[in-house]
Amino acid sequence: MQGLMMNLPLTISALIRHAANFHGDTEIVSRRIEGGIHRYTYADAHGRIRQLANALAALGVKPGERVGTLAWNGYRHFEIYYAVSGSAAVCHTINPRLFPEQITYIINHAEDRFVFLDLTFLPLVEKLAPLCPGVSGWVLMTDREHMPASTLPNLLCYEDLIHGHGDEFEWPELDENSASSLCYTSGTTGNPKGVLFSHRSTVLHAFAACLPDALNLSARDVILPVVPMFHVNAWGLPYSCALTGAKLVFPGAAMDGASIHELFETEGVTCSAGVPTVWLGLLQHMERNGLRFSTLRRTVIGGSACPPAMIRSFEQDYGVQVLHAWGMTELSPLGTVNSFKAKHAALDAEQRLALQGKQGRPIHGVEMKIIDDDGKALPHDGQAYGNLMVRGPWICRQYFRGEGGDPLIDGWFPTGDVATIDGDGYMQITDRSKDVIKSGGEWISSIDLENTAVGHPAVAEAAVVGVPHPKWDERPLLLVVRKPGATLEREEMLRYFEGRVAKWWIPDDVVFLDQLPHTATGKLLKTRLREQFRNYGLPTG
Ligand code: AMP
Repeated sequence: MQGLMMNLPLTISALIRHAANFHGDTEIVSRRIEGGIHRYTYADAHGRIRQLANALAALGVKPGERVGTLAWNGYRHFEIYYAVSGSAAVCHTINPRLFPEQITYIINHAEDRFVFLDLTFLPLVEKLAPLCPGVSGWVLMTDREHMPASTLPNLLCYEDLIHGHGDEFEWPELDENSASSLCYTSGTTGNPKGVLFSHRSTVLHAFAACLPDALNLSARDVILPVVPMFHVNAWGLPYSCALTGAKLVFPGAAMDGASIHELFETEGVTCSAGVPTVWLGLLQHMERNGLRFSTLRRTVIGGSACPPAMIRSFEQDYGVQVLHAWGMTELSPLGTVNSFKAKHAALDAEQRLALQGKQGRPIHGVEMKIIDDDGKALPHDGQAYGNLMVRGPWICRQYFRGEGGDPLIDGWFPTGDVATIDGDGYMQITDRSKDVIKSGGEWISSIDLENTAVGHPAVAEAAVVGVPHPKWDERPLLLVVRKPGATLEREEMLRYFEGRVAKWWIPDDVVFLDQLPHTATGKLLKTRLREQFRNYGLPTG
């Protein structure tokens, strides 16, 4: 017997329609690339989104066709998200921090019809445009006044493009399983692979992200996504904010600590989200200048492991709750968020901190298990570690254009992460499977060692890689960036591990560096470090 409820498809256009109808005067504030602050409302945004939808139709963009973006977090990017997906085309966000060859590959692989770009990326696009013959037009996200001279023959101006188009547009009632947006994973090996999100997966993910034990979003919040809109749709925040009617604040290209802190304060930001490296810069700026947060209540930190020292600093020095989260592009991206259960109310500060170092509990919609190399399920005891497998309605089942074949194993997506799951359902990543250090047949977690190292007050950032060892196969080598002006030597660093990790986990040596390499999404570039230190002579070797 069928239920007798309405069968309306879950579509992205319904999110912005809802925000405009019921939170019409709520603001969207952006730091503009051209300078200054731009301010308007959800109602204004919906008007301009529909103008853009009309403009896309006039350009001949068809359902399912890809429209690329090379852009920072800002109001025009927000408009493109909704206009492109809402009118049945696919919004393809491109990470401008990738190498130009990768960007060219991605644009051509996605077969982008048009690409929208911020002023920052014009020099880049002028170089790669001749290699992207399929792109009919490049749209500069600015007004006539700021249009620079350019050699690009098919360069359009965003404001000119939408000008003269009406702000009425009948959003099509789409099949909820049709594609809405596309994001390539920045794999460290091989070509990037496209994850093709659907309207249904995006809306379900947006609902789940708002839950109290997830990001706890509401119409009383002011959200500043530091995580870029080119990195898994800014973790879905442009959708979740419209769904809840939260005020949105976009930082534009200014991602330094001072600019972010200024926006937090002037706009009354209550919640933010980003990767640990961004918060590192912000916390250093706060410390140097003796600053406080007057409105910030919580921040979501994920994308790579959030060191307990960072959680401690946010919570104890600044009174800001940290929501440690784990996810991946293939998961839209949210998989787990770390929030407490009622039973944890009695924990003391140190116990709470230890728990928060874990990546958190699965949000309903994400099923999770760990298996050994033979596929056998491992117990959820917080000790056994294995390959983390997931499934759910916002998890990728295949990459765009079949790239990489069938990624699933018995209907589960292998994350490539190694993790434990404890009896309360808290998952902890011990490593990316490629980064695990295999010493004498046992595994050493590089993340644990890095977290311990950054607990030392003189350490700004740390990475641990396995280096070949004649007796133990591999031993850990610690790479450290000292805090500006701090002094720290090898012996003191190694002593710091004593009593904090198992004795045989203590790194065999320390190398001090001025900086560590990062990927285009802010993760430590371990492949580069492993390559660089492949022949490193360990004192124990
Ligand atoms: P991406 O698809 O670029 O977002 O990368 C996803 C990968 O980032 C995951 O498979 C993890 O290896 C890593 N990652 C994301 N969040 C965390 C976290 N909180 N702790 C440790 N690793 C993380």
